[in-house]
Amino acid sequence: MQAAPSIQKLLDELERLPGVGPKSAQRMAYYLLNADKASALRLAEAITEVKEAVRFCSRCFNYAEGELCEICASSKRDQSAICVVEEPRDIPPIERTAVFAGVYHVLGGALSPMEGVGPDDLRVAELLKRLAAEDVTEVVLATNPNIEGETTAAYLARLIKPLGITVTRPASGLPVGGDLEFADEVTLGRALEARRPL
Ligand code: ZN
Repeated sequence: MQAAPSIQKLLDELERLPGVGPKSAQRMAYYLLNADKASALRLAEAITEVKEAVRFCSRCFNYAEGELCEICASSKRDQSAICVVEEPRDIPPIERTAVFAGVYHVLGGALSPMEGVGPDDLRVAELLKRLAAEDVTEVVLATNPNIEGETTAAYLARLIKPLGITVTRPASGLPVGGDLEFADEVTLGRALEARRPL
């Protein structure tokens, strides 16, 4: 039996979310139908607000509500160390380890010859510009521990090392082929602490 058109529309939208199958979509839709109007509308408002207020940090390309993200704007961060990650979603797991006190640079992906992603598709030029303008002594290449991430790290190391900047990579121990995003805090913290020069 087909659901009422407005319910079906909600189900279709929910099913497009990552990790949500038809069954969970149905549970969420019926939860929202049962919830009082104010609490359901809070969800709609939160989605609208995040899409309107959030943009990229002009310095590191993390998500930000102002010109700079919270990390770049903080006076407590060590500006001489930059941790390079693929996506903004890789930053919270690293922050949770509390091992890294520097700032970040978000590439916007990883090199992938198979998928036609080259250096010009990533924020590599922006990184090099920062390294030329800022007083950086260490770059931590925290790209994902899979083929694309390793290729990207090796490529960046070749570009950055001649600048006289120490280039490091989190130690092995991270699940190979996995995403930083899903690494557990303790493992990721240890890998960062034991980062090795490339
Ligand atoms: Zn930033």
